[in-house]
Amino acid sequence: MSDTLIEFKNIKKVFDDTVVVEDFNLEVKKGEFVTLLGPSGCGKTTMLRILGGFELPTEGTIMLDGKDISMLPPNKRPINTVFQKYALFPHLNVYDNVAFGLKLKKISKKEQDEKVKKALELVDLEGFEKRTIHTLSGGQQQRIAIARAIVNEPEVLLLDESLSALDYKMRKEMQVELKNMHKKLGITFIFVTHDQEEALTMSDKIVVMADGEIQQIGTPEEIYNEPKNLFVADFIGESNIFKGTMTEYHKARFCGTEFDCVDDYEKDMVIDAVIRPEDIVITDASKGQITGEVLSCDFKGTFYIVVVQAGKNEIEIHSLKNYQIGETVGMCIEPDNIHIIPYDSSINHYVGEITKSQEEGLLHVEFVDFEIDVEPSRIIPGATMGDGEVVGPDGEIIDTLGLYVEASFAPADADLTDDAEQGLVVGNIFSFIYVDDHYRYTVRSKSEEDYVVNDEDLWNQEDYVGVIIPEDKISFRIIEDKADEE
Ligand code: ATP
Repeated sequence: MSDTLIEFKNIKKVFDDTVVVEDFNLEVKKGEFVTLLGPSGCGKTTMLRILGGFELPTEGTIMLDGKDISMLPPNKRPINTVFQKYALFPHLNVYDNVAFGLKLKKISKKEQDEKVKKALELVDLEGFEKRTIHTLSGGQQQRIAIARAIVNEPEVLLLDESLSALDYKMRKEMQVELKNMHKKLGITFIFVTHDQEEALTMSDKIVVMADGEIQQIGTPEEIYNEPKNLFVADFIGESNIFKGTMTEYHKARFCGTEFDCVDDYEKDMVIDAVIRPEDIVITDASKGQITGEVLSCDFKGTFYIVVVQAGKNEIEIHSLKNYQIGETVGMCIEPDNIHIIPYDSSINHYVGEITKSQEEGLLHVEFVDFEIDVEPSRIIPGATMGDGEVVGPDGEIIDTLGLYVEASFAPADADLTDDAEQGLVVGNIFSFIYVDDHYRYTVRSKSEEDYVVNDEDLWNQEDYVGVIIPEDKISFRIIEDKADEE
């Protein structure tokens, strides 16, 4: 028999014409502790609400124990939810709060008493039956909310940011308690958090989400050690990210040096190398694979954060030793601590259409966010304009109207400006990561196209900016089929 309990199949959710979750596919095993992790607004709660039955999916199905439950109301699902704000009834005492669901089911008083007692024992609050809610601490209220959910003996417990209202110390304690409760109860937990440390500590499986899509599914170790893309590498823990190239089999060049690595990609492929600060070893200057000068060294309780300037790169290292500012040090990285991610060559490609040929001999191309007039030879090599018609390299006349054109540019060739209207396109900063010596920003336009731009200045998420893309830095090519490219 399969040990899969829940299966999400191609779930899509649209609110007011906006797609908030897309292509969500996930299998959850019986008894697993699964965490949905991602930044605010990425769709975690929406997925939890869809599983709980509080929202219906726009597309896709949810199977539980082999049965389609997608359209069942919440009370018909063997699932209970612990909400972020606990949603306890302030005018009822602990007993009545926990017994609330049992009363609705009209089970005998004796059975209610037994079940409430057992649930309170499980959350370590035996004897609290008569207490009123306002006399309980945040942590105790949290436990009552859990007791109220587990008293119904659900197969699945959903926890929505359940620890976020607690202070740091209490949160740490509750993390351990929740883990223990999970073991004791043996049921499936689906937990939602934006706190990566919490997810790494508690989960059997983590689902990293961004912008409504799953970025990676894996064990905490897999997510931490083998991030699939730069978003995951950057979101989970601290990372140094360096741009580089593969130089040969199991060798990559970045930070001005060639390193042995275990990942194998084609020679000359452009890559990002991801290295955790704790995986860089500081050595004598003469023994390092790279050398640099210490910029800062800050004590963090159990280790020092050392920042070293090596050429143009700033490198962050976690070290047990203190270093002097200005000191020259060497740095070594073991091959299996270098994680190679192929550079995403699909970024900054946009499809447009030739809508006019201009009298001055230019073709007018319209894209979703911008329009541009281009010399025919930049789109069709060897083409010229004669008598208002485009002439191909072999003298043939080309009917260019309606042809699809792809424009692309490198992130390094574009710039950001706060005088937004100066940009070829405008949008808001959607996300950013630090690479080498600059930030790599994703700017999202109103029409939801993304533009990736390198910039040395620090912008904030949501800043409204213009993207300056010099026209001579844009490459064009005719594409056969618009649908294929999209
Ligand atoms: P947070 O950690 O801040 O709770 P989240 O990852 O849980 O974020 P969701 O609450 O699932 O994100 O929201 C995802 C997107 O869907 C957001 O842009 C949100 O504004 C939108 N959204 C959620 N519920 C609704 C709704 N009922 N109507 C319209 N939009 C909604």
